[in-house]
Parts: sequence; structure tokens; C-alpha cells
Amino acid sequence: VSTAGTASRPTATHCPYCALQCAMSLAPAPAGAGGPASGAQPEVAGREFPTNRGGLCRKGWTSAELLAHPDRVTEPLLRSDDGVLRPVPWDVALERAAAEVRTAQERYGKDAVGVFGGGGLTNEKAYLLGKFARLALGTSRIDYNGRFCMSSAAAAGNRAFGIDRGLPFPVTDLGTADTVLLLGSNVAETMPPFVQHLAGARAGGGLIVVDPRRSATAELTADGAGTHLQPAPHTDLILLLGLAHIVINDGLLAHSYVAERTAGLEAVIRSVAPWWPERVQAATGVPAHVLREAAERLASSARTGSCYILTGRGIEQHADGTDTVTAAINLALLLGLPGSERGGYGTLTGQGNGQGGREHGQKSDQLPGYRKITDPAAREHVARVWGVPEAAIPGPGVPAVELLASLGKPATADAPGGVRCLFVHGANVVVSAPDVSAVREGLRALDFLVVCDFFLSETAREADLVLPVLQWAEEEGTMTNLEGRVLRRRRAVEAPAGARSELWIMNRLAALLDAPSAFPEDPREVFEELRAASSGGLADYSGITYERLDAGEALHWPCPAGSGGTPRLFTDGFAHPDGRARLVAVRASAPAPSAGAGAFQLATGRLLEHYQSGAQTRRVEALSAAQPEVRLSVHPAAAAGLGIADGAWVRVRREHAAPQGPRGAGTPGAAQPEPVVLARAELTAGIRPDTVFLPFHFPGLGAANQVTEQRTDPISGMPEFKTTRVLVEPAEAP
Ligand code: SF4
Repeated sequence: VSTAGTASRPTATHCPYCALQCAMSLAPAPAGAGGPASGAQPEVAGREFPTNRGGLCRKGWTSAELLAHPDRVTEPLLRSDDGVLRPVPWDVALERAAAEVRTAQERYGKDAVGVFGGGGLTNEKAYLLGKFARLALGTSRIDYNGRFCMSSAAAAGNRAFGIDRGLPFPVTDLGTADTVLLLGSNVAETMPPFVQHLAGARAGGGLIVVDPRRSATAELTADGAGTHLQPAPHTDLILLLGLAHIVINDGLLAHSYVAERTAGLEAVIRSVAPWWPERVQAATGVPAHVLREAAERLASSARTGSCYILTGRGIEQHADGTDTVTAAINLALLLGLPGSERGGYGTLTGQGNGQGGREHGQKSDQLPGYRKITDPAAREHVARVWGVPEAAIPGPGVPAVELLASLGKPATADAPGGVRCLFVHGANVVVSAPDVSAVREGLRALDFLVVCDFFLSETAREADLVLPVLQWAEEEGTMTNLEGRVLRRRRAVEAPAGARSELWIMNRLAALLDAPSAFPEDPREVFEELRAASSGGLADYSGITYERLDAGEALHWPCPAGSGGTPRLFTDGFAHPDGRARLVAVRASAPAPSAGAGAFQLATGRLLEHYQSGAQTRRVEALSAAQPEVRLSVHPAAAAGLGIADGAWVRVRREHAAPQGPRGAGTPGAAQPEPVVLARAELTAGIRPDTVFLPFHFPGLGAANQVTEQRTDPISGMPEFKTTRVLVEPAEAP
């Protein structure tokens, strides 16, 4: 019998972190000295699982340390009158949460209660959370942290193809590629086992990486393996319009494909006309001849070999992210790639269940099966599965940034009041959301904050009530990886006695709130309901069962009942009614003027050792030792101009800081300090002199999102994470 955190036998499962969802076996650890404290350790699960073929990165190898970690929360914690979080029994905790919901809704209406979910939750939890918000709480106010991650790519994919699945082909298809254009993705650090799938392209010199930094992935192009394009920050859209311009004007267009499988060419021709290579060079800094070589290489591979275009957060996390991804998709369509045998377009999902997390109803505008919440037929279908009248399902809510900006806000003559009682599941918004100081103030302005987590994350520390939940290896469930492939996550160890699954919590709270539908706590039962709710939708899981997954079947959605799933989308047509993909004309504004002395464009991103807000990986000894603190990457020439030495402390602040004043429920009349980041400088010639880079895994004054802003993409709701004009100054050590 397993004890808490200890495996009694090897169990096949998947890494808890990123969307590659590497297969691993969690095995009993050697007893005694030298064995990991958790009593369980990852082992290679075999070489046959295709995304990682036995490989794990150092996050995966150390993931078992999170189990039985001394920081685990193992009892519900309720904030006392003296402000201290103190243990309480589960029944007291749940009664209190239900009472706060009732009070907030009696005073301010149903939408005074909100839910903030996460892209790391299993499919079962993501599904039940959407249902819990809409039926048990009766609120429209639900959204999740995937809004900060995949929303631009999802919006662009839906617009172009009528459906959004990260990779619409198995990742192993990339092995046939002789050219891969990788835009804004540092896979060598974020998902190292993925790099093996780029081997074919690298062998022929065909890996083209677009990144303003000489990232570890850009380094993969060295020694003739490919080309690194290093455009000025926030000029990706112009770069893509320039590549499309060359394809159209230099006779590289896939004429018959475009004529037979797409619509909208004429408008796109007009939109790319102003972006001839020399003008793109002036805006981006990428030489015109390099652009022409890249376009010719892409077109040549698309005609005679195999060519893929992949995007990541670097080009997606912008206030024009949807249009930038659309430009990448346009380029792929002009080359005749999506749905062909000669390549395709895909986006590399980030969070562990970034794909499944956006399909089952956590998004403010969607119902399970990737259905629109405003679609009457979709509402009728889901209402039938839930056993409620259609009118019982609230309408669309608001995207994440808007939801967080509403926290604690009173109603005015022009606007309804904001959320007063918030449930947070699987998210650490005090580190991961833009403008985290404002988010923290919003949380403090709430009447009641409930956080479900297994550690006291920075967000949990703000809570009125912390509910301790299970970890990845302590319960059953499913995840959907970056290829739309559904995977079994299995229970390998016993959980601490006081922790509960979110499914159990929702089940108990739903009963206390007299919810009009059942909330099963058994993951298999929830999955059966999810299958029915998704049936007939874009993300159709109705043919997927635990039994089929346990038998080792590779099932990619859509998988209608009785089918074998769909590893490759678009082979027979796109998901628009006429079967054609949409070429959508997008326009770039003029690039931002170059930064003045001491001013830079700030980009944010990830490190090999850490994952998302770092709440988990900062607690793993080896990872924390390797990357213990935030560092600002800055070019040596720029640093010299500011008198900043390698390792010196610097202060980063917005160039145009908004006037600071009282916000939220802080001390009345007290001005809020200007948000700044304090970091050590790390001098590197691998970054442009006009750009600085901060990883976003660190809290407090090390949080990169102290200085990012709440500006969002009008289509997707994605915040502008990748281009903030900042000033960098020498600073004293904190
Ligand atoms: Fe694989 Fe990602 Fe886990 Fe690393 S973090 S082992 S790449 S799933």
C-alpha cells in the first residue's frame, strides 16, 4: 500500500508540467539515504511514446519532489479575525465558502461571484469547473489563465480554419520536414525533448528561428543548421507581411491550392503590398536578402519537400497577437501547407492541458465541446446533458484581464459592479497576470477569496480560504496534449490525508448551494458526462473512453463515437461551411519608435528550469539552485551606456508610468508606489541592444509582470506581455 507521496509500483503516467506531456513511469524510489524525499521517482516509460521518445527535461526528472513536499497544504486554512490563516475542518471551510457565495449574490447579484481556472487542470476538472460556475454558482463570470497563453492563436485558428487545435498533425510529422519556420518559441528551454523533432530540418540547414534574442533555440541554427532572424521587438507582424509579399510577388504562391482551398486572396494581396523587403528591413532590421532567402527556402520545401510553420507565445502574447498569428497562417496558406501532405501550420501549446483546458467550458464565451455559449443549438445540447432548461445557463462572461480588473469594484451608473467573491483553481494570478500590483489590490478588495491549491502560492497567501487539493500523481484523469491527443494521467501515490480533489470540492459545494444538476466526484464519471456534452461539437470526445486510452490507443480529437480519432485535420477540408480556409487581411501599424537612452522594449518568457509562475519549480531544490532569482538580460553595449556591470542590481520601470493613486481597498487616500522590478543584470550579446528580457517565474519585486500592462488584444483578450517600454536604472541591492 502506498503512503503519502510514495509509489508502491511503477505507474505509467505523464509529466505534470508542459503541453508536450512527456510519458514517464513513476516508480518506487530507493529507500534510505540518497533516495528522493518524496519516495517516488520518474523513470523512462519506454521509447515508444512519440512526443518525447523516452526523453524528459530536468523539470520532468525532478517532478516527484513536489509530492510529499514539506510545503504541501494538507488542511483547509481560513483567515481569522487577526489576519492569520488557520486550519479548520473541511465542513467548516465548505459551509463558510457557500455562505459567502450566498451573501455576495444576495447583495450584488449572481455575477458578483467569479471563477478563475487554469490550463493545468485535467479535462475532468476543466469541464466540471465550467459547469460549477454556470449551474452551482449561476454566474457568467468564469475565465482562466489560458487567456494569457493560447488565446491569440486560438482566435486566429478559429478565424482561419473554423477550428483551433494546437498542432493539427502528430508532432512526429515534423520529422519529415526539411524546413521549419519557428516564430517566437524557445522550445530548447521550454520543452527540450521536442527538439528531436527538428532534426530533419536542422540536418538540411532548414531551421529558421525568429526571435529578438539569441535563445537556446536560436542557437540550434548554428553551424549551418539554419537561420536566426532577429527582428526588432514587436515587428513580427511586419516580418510576416514581408514574407507573404515576397511569396506573392516573386511567383512563389501555391496557385492551385489557394484557388481550390482558400478564400480571401485579393484582400491579402492588397494588405501585403506595402511591405516590400527593403521597407521590412527598415522596420525590422532583418536584411532584405535574408528575407528573400527565407521565403524562397519555405516555398521550395513546400513545393518539393516538406515545410512547417510553427508559432509560440513570442509572437502571440501581444495586443495584436491574433493578427500576427493570422499573418503566419496566411503565409502557410499562400504556400499551400495546412492540410497538405507537404507540411502545415501549428501553434505550440504551453501549459500542460492548455489544449483541453480551453475546450470544456472554462472560457468565458464557451461551453463544452468548444461550443460558442451564444449559439442556441449549443446551449440546448449542453442544457440537455446537464438536465436543466437552456435558460439556466448564463450568457457569456468577460475575458480574464477584464474579470481581474473588476475585482471588488462597486457598481456605477455606467457599469455593473465587479466580482466580490472569487474562486481560483490552478492559477497564480499574483505572479502570472499583467500588472500584478493592480491584481493584488483587486484580490484584497474582494469580500472573500477562495484559492484551491496544493502549495501556499503567492495568490493563496492572499486568500480568505485555502482549500488543499491533490497533485498530478495522486488522482486519475485525462489531459490533452499539444497535438490534441488525449492522455491518461494515473494515480501512483497516496495523497496527504487532508487534501481533496477539486472534483470532490465541487461536488460538496454544489450540494450546499442546491445546484440543479449532479456534480460527480469520480473522474471517470465526469469524463463520461464530458463525452456526452462534447458530442457533436468541434472538440468531440464522445468516442474516447478510459478503456480505449488504457489499451494504448492514440486518440486525437475530434473523435466521434466509434471512430479512431483524427490525428490529421484539414486533409479533406477546413471547418468552415464551404470547406475553405480563410485568408484574412491584417494590417501592421508602424513600428514603435526606437527607444531612447536608458529605454528598452521589455520581452518576458521562460527558463529551462522553471514552469509558469514558478510556484512548483521554485520549490524543487535542484531547479531553484540552478535559477534562484530573476535576472534581466541586457546587451553589454547598452549596459555600458548605463554604467551597469554584469551581476549588478537594476531597477526596471515603465517608461510612461500611469499616475499612481489609491486603488482597491488599500489605505484610503494612500498613494500606491510605482510598480518596479528589481533584478540583477545579466549581460549577453545574444540580445538586441534595444531589448531587455525578464523571465516571469519569480514573485514580489522580481515579478516581470510588475511592469507589464493590462492592454489587451481586442479579439482574443490576450494581454501585451512581450513589448513594454521600460527604463532600466542602476539600483541598490534590495
Ligand atoms: Fe516533458 Fe515538458 Fe515535462 Fe519537460 S516539462 S519533461 S518537456 S512535459
